[in-house]
Amino acid sequence: MSDPEDCVFCRIIRHEIPAREVQRDADVVAFHDLNPQAPTHILVVPTMHADHLSEFNAKASSELKSKLFAAAADIGGRFQRDGQGYRVVINEGSDGGQTVGHLHLHVLAGRHLTWPPG
Ligand code: 5GP
Ligand code: ZN
Repeated sequence: MSDPEDCVFCRIIRHEIPAREVQRDADVVAFHDLNPQAPTHILVVPTMHADHLSEFNAKASSELKSKLFAAAADIGGRFQRDGQGYRVVINEGSDGGQTVGHLHLHVLAGRHLTWPPG
């Protein structure tokens, strides 16, 4: 498990690193990605540290899981362009392309996204 002391997203949650936040409560924080891959690229992050989806799934309450999912849907709905939709992505591990070891949902919107991803 990565150390929450050094974790970049825990540091954003603790306000030790600035971020362009779009919403925050005790359980979930959402902020714009530093290196956006679409006109809107927001990361939705549980304040509870978990290295990845598998760990989060094992340790989060049903309530927190539901809240995270609802936050992604809410943000996608708010930031999509004119009802055109959005994409939610979770990367896990090296094959999944994960680079930050704190579970996060990517919400991408504002352009047509192709499939399959690279
Ligand atoms: P992953 O590759 O782990 O699925 O996604 C990590 C994301 O975090 C990347 O899209 C990257 O641009 C973003 N990111 C990394 N460091 C920071 C940071 O300090 N601030 C913000 N806002 N985003 C970050
Ligand atoms: Zn963390």
